[in-house]
Amino acid sequence: LLCSVTAVLVLGTAGACSGVPEAEVVEADRGTIGIALPTTTSPRWVADGESMVRQFELLGYRTELVYGEDDVKGQISQLRAMIAKRDRALVIGSIDGGALKDVLAEAAAAKIPVIAYDRLIRDTGDLGYYATFDNFRVGVMQAAHIVEALDLAEGGGTDTVELFAGSADDNNATFFFNGAMSVLRPYLDSGRLRVVSGETSFAKVATQRWDGAVAKKRMERLLAGPLAGERLDAVLSPYDGISRGVLEALKAAGYGSARKLPVITGQDAEIDSVKLIAAGEQSQTVYKDTRELAKVAVQMTNSLLTGGKPEVNDTTQYDNGVKVVPAFLLQPVNVDKSNYRRVLVDGGYYTADQLSSK
Ligand code: BGC
Repeated sequence: LLCSVTAVLVLGTAGACSGVPEAEVVEADRGTIGIALPTTTSPRWVADGESMVRQFELLGYRTELVYGEDDVKGQISQLRAMIAKRDRALVIGSIDGGALKDVLAEAAAAKIPVIAYDRLIRDTGDLGYYATFDNFRVGVMQAAHIVEALDLAEGGGTDTVELFAGSADDNNATFFFNGAMSVLRPYLDSGRLRVVSGETSFAKVATQRWDGAVAKKRMERLLAGPLAGERLDAVLSPYDGISRGVLEALKAAGYGSARKLPVITGQDAEIDSVKLIAAGEQSQTVYKDTRELAKVAVQMTNSLLTGGKPEVNDTTQYDNGVKVVPAFLLQPVNVDKSNYRRVLVDGGYYTADQLSSK
């Protein structure tokens, strides 16, 4: 194979061309994209990272993928290092969405475009675009599942629910909670549904860093206190890791054996939770195809870097305190026992083996 002049110029050495088809050689020098994601403790972020790396590489970019492991300062240092290396663009799934203002100003000064991945970055004008899911709708789906599973629309007596929300420093957590409350509110107002603990404000029910262990402790406290001697019919949980923490506390208190488990929602379709859905212990999850989100973020980045204009479908919902960030929202999918095989296995997200192995 002969190298074209462009390929030689781009790569700087003719030797590197041997045996490599021209297109790939030329494309191989499109620079490095920095990808900073929050944590590897939740499998979705690992899948997000892998998908983005694959997609960027297909377009000829190199990638640097790092995880902040829920350490806010650590994530800021990771971003500083990427800026120092002059990465061409940053795709960021933030840990604390309100803590990146200064580092984003540094990226802007270095003319490095930034895309917020899944979680909005707040209080900064130095953010170009936002790739995410319809976060309000995620909460609507979780609450709608509770309404349906408890037949709330049918009237009747009073059912009980406890509410859990995500991390207060994650903009998504409020969207999920507000979406859910938009559905539950009328039933709470009419008395058809009751929060026995009385803990209904976002601040009271938020779960720092989405930590399942933190949620488990809160559930234990509720079970030992206000819920002692009461029946619990449902738990609004915003995320599978929290659902499993809550479930552990419930089982330790005799739910699932002496008494029926409440309806428990979730999000992310994590394998461990899908198995619990198959077993009838967790009731629902919200599936968000991270492969699709990765594609959206990669397309946005590529179009910014090639002088195009990223495609968006929302220019109203995501005000970050400084500007309304143009966003592309994907649609989440409600998953429960009735459709998990069709959606997750037939859809190629998991293999049947992954779901059946212990
Ligand atoms: C994401 C959810 C995830 C949660 C915890 C949120 O920002 O949108 O998919 O469950 O973080 O990782």
